[in-house]
Amino acid sequence: MLVLCADLLYTPLEEINEPMLLVEDGRISSISSRSRQEIPRNAIVADFSAHSCFGDTSRAILIPGFLDVHIHGSAGVDVMRAPVGELPNLNRFLATRGVTGYFPTTVAAPLDESCRALERLADAIEAAPSSLRRNPDAAEARPLGVHLEGPFLSHQRRGVHPPQYLIAPTVETFERLWLAARGHVRMMTIAPELCGAPEVIAEAARRNVCVSIGHSDAKLEAARAGVRAGARHATHTFNAMRPLDHRDPGILGEVLTNGGLSADIIADGIHLAPEMVKLFLQAKGFEKSVLITDATAAAGMPEGKYQLGPIEVEVKDGKCTSNGNLAGSVLTMDRAVGNARRFAGWSLQEAVRAATVNAANAVGLEQYGRLAPGVEANIVVLAGNGEIRKTIVRGRVV
Ligand SMILES: [Zn+2]
Repeated sequence: MLVLCADLLYTPLEEINEPMLLVEDGRISSISSRSRQEIPRNAIVADFSAHSCFGDTSRAILIPGFLDVHIHGSAGVDVMRAPVGELPNLNRFLATRGVTGYFPTTVAAPLDESCRALERLADAIEAAPSSLRRNPDAAEARPLGVHLEGPFLSHQRRGVHPPQYLIAPTVETFERLWLAARGHVRMMTIAPELCGAPEVIAEAARRNVCVSIGHSDAKLEAARAGVRAGARHATHTFNAMRPLDHRDPGILGEVLTNGGLSADIIADGIHLAPEMVKLFLQAKGFEKSVLITDATAAAGMPEGKYQLGPIEVEVKDGKCTSNGNLAGSVLTMDRAVGNARRFAGWSLQEAVRAATVNAANAVGLEQYGRLAPGVEANIVVLAGNGEIRKTIVRGRVV
């Protein structure tokens, strides 16, 4: 049995002072305040609190590991192109940034190429539990499911997705992608105004895919039809979306005012002005706001040229572009959390919610994004200023 002690713990919905968290067989078995429970005999104790000689002198806060539901790569690894053997490099990098679970995200590509990438990602998702056993010396984030960003996107709002690879939505094409991914598709971004979109949305939702509206030029009514068909989330709000107009609110009118929809943003200060991040967080609130990175292989790497699926991107001055258009980011989740605090004045606990439990709720992963008895012990130790001090995956303190 492992016992973790710290100064503070965010479940993240609740705050516990002087917490004591017990881990057995990789799962959390109990959480309590130290004053209310004795440390069990024979337990291994990892005490991160300021007064312990083990830790440094700043306050230590235990939070759930971050969950990134929209990420194309990092550390030089592109999730669509990397052979399965390279994914551990990405997984280790993500863990250093506090991420313990993520959805590798595709971009529009030739259908055969997409299917091959999905097969490899399905291999990685299925191999993740045993890979942890093989590499006990490094904390590694785990791919939990695939996010299909495309091919069912709007030509008007495609961003850098190559136009020749966009496809009109049909259940048949969705089925092909689904089978290639062996059912591991957990999220799909789709433009709801496209002909055939409502049928594909309904079918995907029926299979418990979190259908997210985005890369869309939808007017208000088409966005609402998408939600009625089963969409429940929105992808990188404001980016690759019909802009908000006060007499023609369009898709953003629905995303920002429908309290039942969750939505995500890229809070890097480049994709959106800080004031728009604040507007978004105020509109979606503490429960429905989700932080994503939309990071490419370039994140965590020096400036230069990288691949984003079939697209070549270039990083200069912290901007990731392709032919002058923004093409994903070099953001990491720990920085996104810090930016939510700086841009919107949110507390650390509130910002952590948007990177953990809100994301997990949006995609229906009840075992992630929270610290509670019974869930996997994926835990981050934060310093009081929000810096990552340690990432613990399934109860292993490396
Ligand atoms: Zn993306």
